[in-house]
Amino acid sequence: MPDNDTNRPLPSTRPTGRPDARVRSAIVIGGGIAGPVTAAALTRAGIEAAVYEAYPEPSGGIGGSLALAPNGVAALEIVGAADAVRERALPITASSVSIADRPLGATPSLPDLEPLRMIGRGPLHEALRTAARQAGVPLHHGRRLVGVEEAPDGVTARFADGSTATADVLIGADGARSTVRRLIDPQAPAADYTGMLGFEGFVPHDALPARLDVGTPGEMVFAFGRRAYYLYWPTPDGVGWGVNLPSETYLSYADARRTPAEEWLRIIRERYAGDRPGAALAAGTVPETLQVVGALHIMPPVPHWSRGRLVLVGDAVHAPSNSTGQGASLAIESSIELARCLRDLPDAGSAFAAYERLRRNRVETIARRGAKLNHAKTPGPIARALMRLILPAMLNRTSTLDVLGREQRFRIDWDEPARPEDLSGSQRAIAR
Ligand SMILES: Cc1cc2nc3c(=O)[nH]c(=O)nc-3n(C[C@H](O)[C@H](O)[C@H](O)COP(=O)(O)OP(=O)(O)OC[C@H]3O[C@@H](n4cnc5c(N)ncnc54)[C@H](O)[C@@H]3O)c2cc1C
Repeated sequence: MPDNDTNRPLPSTRPTGRPDARVRSAIVIGGGIAGPVTAAALTRAGIEAAVYEAYPEPSGGIGGSLALAPNGVAALEIVGAADAVRERALPITASSVSIADRPLGATPSLPDLEPLRMIGRGPLHEALRTAARQAGVPLHHGRRLVGVEEAPDGVTARFADGSTATADVLIGADGARSTVRRLIDPQAPAADYTGMLGFEGFVPHDALPARLDVGTPGEMVFAFGRRAYYLYWPTPDGVGWGVNLPSETYLSYADARRTPAEEWLRIIRERYAGDRPGAALAAGTVPETLQVVGALHIMPPVPHWSRGRLVLVGDAVHAPSNSTGQGASLAIESSIELARCLRDLPDAGSAFAAYERLRRNRVETIARRGAKLNHAKTPGPIARALMRLILPAMLNRTSTLDVLGREQRFRIDWDEPARPEDLSGSQRAIAR
C-alpha cells in the first residue's frame, strides 16, 4: 500500500480492469487496541494493512490498566497475541463487592473460564503491536488523520503532517473521540459523558498501614464508598486502584491534566475520607503514581457504522463504558469480525453490512448494561440506601450469571465463512 510522505500525485493502488471489487488493502487509523488487532487479522485474511497512529511514539505506561475478559483473550488467539497478554498480565481469580466498607460477597463468576487478565496499557499495546509487526503490518507514528478523499476505486487518507496514503478501504479504530466517525456522518453522535472522571493510583505495600487488609494478589474488590465508587486490586508489590470521581464538569484527558496532580489528590482524599481502604489508598498515592484519565465515556448507538469505503471499529463505534469491563474485549472481537467479513464477502459494502449485523446487537446490549452500572456508581441519597438492599440480591441472581455467560463465553470461529445475510449458526445463540 502506498504511503506518500509528501503531497506528490498519488499512485493508484488498484490495477485497472480488475475483475472483482474484493478488498485487498486497508488503511487502519489508530494504533491503540482495535487498530493493531484489525491490521493483524486483515493480514491473516490476505488483505494488506498498515496502521497510522496520531501519537509520535508508543504510549508507554499512559492510561493505567485494564482487565481483559475471557472472550477478549480468546479472540486474541486468532492473531497470536493471547499468550503474550497472559504473560504480561495479573490473573484475577476472585472478585467481590463492598458497600460503605461492608463486604457484600463474591461477584458471580464462571469458574470454567480462564480468569480476567489485568494488564497495563503499555504492555498490552506492546503485545498487540508486536503481533501486528510479526504479521508484517507497518505501524506509522505521528500520523494524525485529518481528512479523506474518496474515489470510485479507493480512498486516500490525509494526515496533519501533509502526507497521504491510499487503499481500498479506510478503517477508523481511532477511539471514542473518533475523527473517522464524523467523516462517515457529520451528524454522528459524540460519546456521552458518564458524569465521572477516571484516575488510577498505585500504592506500594510499605505506604499502607500495617494492619490494613487489602486482600491478596489475584483478588479485585468493587467498592461503593460513602461518596464515590472505586475498585482495587492487590499486586505482588502493592495495591492498584481505580477512581471514578463524580464530577458535573466534563474534563477531557488534556483538560484534566492541566490541573496539577497534587490538586487532584487533595480532591480524591477528601472524597474517599472515611472509606476503608479507600482513604488509605488515597493517602498512599503520590503525584508520581497517579494517572489522570479524564472524562469517562459511553457511546450512544451510532446510526451509521460505515459509508462507502469507510468503516468504524472499537471505541470509535461502540465504547460501552469502563463499567462493563468489556470495552477492549469488544474492540478486539469487532476487529476480528471485520477482517473475517472483508475476507469472505465480495466487496466493501457487503462486508461492512455483514460486520454490522454480526456486531451491533451484542455491543449495544453490553453498553446498556454499562449505562445502568454508571447510574449505580453515581446514586443520590435514596438510591444509595436502596442499593444496600438491591445489590446483595443482584449478586445472587442466576440472571446475572446468564448475562456474564453471554458476554464471556462468546467465541469467534475464524475458519467459518462470513455470510452476507445472517448471523452464523455458532454465534446466533450467544450473540443476542
Ligand atoms: C479508566 C478506564 C478503564 C477501562 N477499563 C477497562 C477494562 O477493565 N476492560 C476493558 O475491556 N476495557 C476497559 N476500558 C475501555 C478500553 O480502554 C477501550 O474500550 C479500548 O481502549 C478501546 O480500544 P480502541 O483501540 O478502540 O480505542 P483506543 O484505545 O482509544 O485507541 C484509539 C487510538 O487512535 C488514536 N487516534 C485518535 N485519533 C486519531 C487520528 N485522527 N489519527 C490517528 N490516530 C488517532 C489514538 O491516539 C489511540 O491510540 C477502560 C477505559 C477507561 C477509560
